Amino acid sequence: MASNRESNGLDGYHSKLDFTTFRNVINNKLTSTAETRHGINPATAEPLPEVPVSVQKDLDNAVACARKAFESWSKTTEEERGKALLSFADAIESQQDEFERLLVQEQGKPLSTAHVELTMAIQWLRSFPKLHLTEEILEETEDRVIISRYTPLGVAGGIVPWNWPVLLAVGKIGPALYTGNTIIIKPSPYTPYCDLKLGELGTRIFPPGVLQVLSGGDDLGPMLTEHPNIDKISFTGSSVTGKKVMESCSKTLKRVTLELGGNDPAIICEDVNIEKAIPKVATLAFLNSGQICMLIKRLYVHGAIYDQFRDALVAFSKTIKTGDGFEPDVLVGPIQNSMQYEKVKAMYSQIKEEGWTCALGGSIQEFSKGYFIEPAIIDNPPEHSKIVTDEPFGPIIPILKWWDEDDVIARANDSKMGLGASVWSADIERAHRMARQLEAGSVWVNSHFDVAPGVPFGGHKWSGMGMEWGVVGLKAYCNPQTLWLRKSE
Ligand code: NAD
Repeated sequence: MASNRESNGLDGYHSKLDFTTFRNVINNKLTSTAETRHGINPATAEPLPEVPVSVQKDLDNAVACARKAFESWSKTTEEERGKALLSFADAIESQQDEFERLLVQEQGKPLSTAHVELTMAIQWLRSFPKLHLTEEILEETEDRVIISRYTPLGVAGGIVPWNWPVLLAVGKIGPALYTGNTIIIKPSPYTPYCDLKLGELGTRIFPPGVLQVLSGGDDLGPMLTEHPNIDKISFTGSSVTGKKVMESCSKTLKRVTLELGGNDPAIICEDVNIEKAIPKVATLAFLNSGQICMLIKRLYVHGAIYDQFRDALVAFSKTIKTGDGFEPDVLVGPIQNSMQYEKVKAMYSQIKEEGWTCALGGSIQEFSKGYFIEPAIIDNPPEHSKIVTDEPFGPIIPILKWWDEDDVIARANDSKMGLGASVWSADIERAHRMARQLEAGSVWVNSHFDVAPGVPFGGHKWSGMGMEWGVVGLKAYCNPQTLWLRKSE
């Protein structure tokens, strides 16, 4: 594979990017559009720099370039592509601080969480090349050999949400490119900045057309899912949009992977070590202001320890600091955007309307600027209230009481969602037994939200279709193929 460093005239991939101007990346060229728009810093409500608003012809151009690039990229070896991913990881790492600061500005998350996200993204890129899609001989006789193998699909489209824009983009870019596909990334209109810079950095490593990034408005996602020359969509976002994506992709029989919303239950047994569990449980409920698909969103606590657990959770949660992501020790940053802010406010307004009891918080303080909401814990609301059945995607969580093991498993499973679930207990055998009965793509014991690049991750039911990461995730960017090879005429 020819290095792209000489061909694009850049002096190596470690030289600093300009983090003040943002353009599309099409065929390794940085381009803008007639119309532009800008994001908002959710901590200050101030406008961020202008970004392109791509139109159909920009996408058509990118797709044509991606198709052309596929011809040669798909013929490179897995080893060559793996090396390119490692260089990409190095390049991101060389500007990690700048990416983290930009991520805080556009997304709102605390700098410490931005650091975690960037570190994970780099680790993910370094880990994918350790995975291999090997050919398998299914049968071999004197006469013939039958081989099962995986071939790249072609041009992929990666649609990314606003909560983890870097990791979730990289989690699509890595497997797509490693398996020999080309990819066009479409960031959320709320968080296009880091993703555009990832694409720009990619121009220093990948041949033209292999990795492209297009920013746009609400109409760009549908343009991708409708496009006749895109072969696969990997979508991460809400279940509502996921259904539209699937419907649209069906017209061209595109392959689809859907990573959708969650409403994860965590079951706390009566023998749990409360002191040890509380900091983990609270953090895994309020991290990123509750704006992570796989956080704890329903907390089922055994009746025998309910009051004690609730009080300890409240005491710990009171120590959680809400504020601008650049302030030290903040765990809960602002809600990412005004649309989501209004949605979370609507959930808080139900507290009074529905007569829920708050163990913590529950009112919204009007900060002078920015979309801040402090954590709330709703004390044993009715099982079918909205705070239990809906994903709030904000720093608010219901805590519910249970007495019977079968009953709590049934309640945990009584959801359209099935992304993650966890059981917390000192009795490991019991916890493992309960874990195996939970309907979710990832189930943890004495933990929640553990993820790894080599481990497939995805949802059951309305939380998704297919999985990303791990060898399963690589296969999702491939066509399975069977070769029936006669050994003689
Ligand atoms: P969203 O569905 O509104 O948007 C996601 C992306 O889809 C954005 O890039 C958006 O511009 C694009 N989009 C919007 N309408 C489209 C359409 N009709 N066709 C194609 N693309 C379209 O989701 P969001 O608000 O950005 O993200 C929050 C949701 O994402 C939550 O429900 C969360 O649980 C979920 N999520 C899931 C995972 C996961 O891996 N399962 C990870 C993160 C977030």
